[in-house]
Amino acid sequence: MDEKIKQAALDRRYLRMASIWAENSYCKRRQVGALIIKNKMIISDGYNGTPSGFENICEDKNNITKPYVLHAEANAITKIARSNNSSEGATMYVTSSPCIECAKLIIQAGIKRVVYSERYRLADGIDLMKRAGIELVFIDPNDTSELYNDTSKENKI
Ligand SMILES: [Zn+2]
Repeated sequence: MDEKIKQAALDRRYLRMASIWAENSYCKRRQVGALIIKNKMIISDGYNGTPSGFENICEDKNNITKPYVLHAEANAITKIARSNNSSEGATMYVTSSPCIECAKLIIQAGIKRVVYSERYRLADGIDLMKRAGIELVFIDPNDTSELYNDTSKENKI
């Protein structure tokens, strides 16, 4: 099978896993999931939520997201900081395009490739990662046209 199609199919599966992982989030307004893959291994995962030890409620009584809620990308990256792993050269899969704060962390964590779905209203995070030479892949989960040679596998989970 063509390497490019193979990679595209793999990217879609990891992104689907990240979207399933987003279901762990107890945030009501928005649920985002992230995975960090290196050498075909999942080395970290994250979803948006409050820091460890804080109550599992993301929104205040006015339904505004609390300022100390961490984004999925930040949770995945900081989880690596507490492990013996390294995100150098890794790929991040995230269900929403990273904001500028997460883009800074992604760059500094040495992540070289970011695969995402759902474009965020602001593109400044994407622009910053582009400037840093990170490979960016946008996947529309509803458009599988690039997988014309792999449709049988695509439908299997
Ligand atoms: Zn963010």
